[in-house]
Amino acid sequence: MTPSYRGRFAPSPTGPLHAGSLVAALASWLDARAHRGVWLVRIEDVDTPRCVPGADQHILAQLAACGLASDEPVVWQSQRAAHYQALLDALIQQGHAYPCGCSRKDIEAALHAQGLTRERHHAAVYPGTCRPDRGGLNGKPARAWRFAIDHPGRLHWFDRRLGAQQQNVATEVGDFVLRRADGLWAYQLAVVVDDAAQGISHVVRGEDLADNTARQLLLQRALGLPYPIYLHTPLVLGANGEKLSKQNGAQALDLSDPLAALALAAQALSLPPVGTHSVPEALAQWTRAWAA
Ligand code: GLU
Repeated sequence: MTPSYRGRFAPSPTGPLHAGSLVAALASWLDARAHRGVWLVRIEDVDTPRCVPGADQHILAQLAACGLASDEPVVWQSQRAAHYQALLDALIQQGHAYPCGCSRKDIEAALHAQGLTRERHHAAVYPGTCRPDRGGLNGKPARAWRFAIDHPGRLHWFDRRLGAQQQNVATEVGDFVLRRADGLWAYQLAVVVDDAAQGISHVVRGEDLADNTARQLLLQRALGLPYPIYLHTPLVLGANGEKLSKQNGAQALDLSDPLAALALAAQALSLPPVGTHSVPEALAQWTRAWAA
């Protein structure tokens, strides 16, 4: 039992839940219950152009049908801009954040000039053009705010499922964006601010997010925030072998049979099948299996 356990499920309302996102929802709920902890739902609606109107309510209804209800009022990130601004201001004051005037084209050109190309499917590693120690904006207007990585070499951390993890954030990611050129808050800043504000002790989420963890640990360190314990859940692959995602058209969960949807998610988590037709009883059995 972990009395201070606080976990969360933090969907982006870019569409309804699908079989893949239910795995992260169920795992985070079971882990919280197995620790007799608190489970929260946070709607991560900062990337407004990607949000679909009504998807938040749809997701909450899907979770409710699956017996997964937030233990405290649901939080919407779109309501929390003042908090993100306060922590960005703190980072700026401490020299951990700087304004960047580079467009995507500028970044590509700078990388090209260094003989580097952006890896396919990956965001370009920011070459550090506007870092204060390299002359800063150099007369360009500020567009975005970036985190000044101050950690040379590899950052090591531990994932409860994946084991020892490491990433060289400086060379593999570069100084990442905290506030975008379009004024929107970046996921990395919002997630770190909210995990801390909500006292999240354990993060359980899909493995596709595992390589964001090092960036979040760097931000937590710079802001003097506690480090949650991380567990990244297996991804559900579609028939084409690709990760199921809203982007590649994964189907919304069919709520006519929530137990069947939960059973598939439980199977992805290597939990045993349950012999019951009741959602609460199935969740109770899986909680015992998760804790064992
Ligand atoms: N909002 C993110 C997503 O839906 C998850 C963020 C997180 O769990 O850290 O992909």
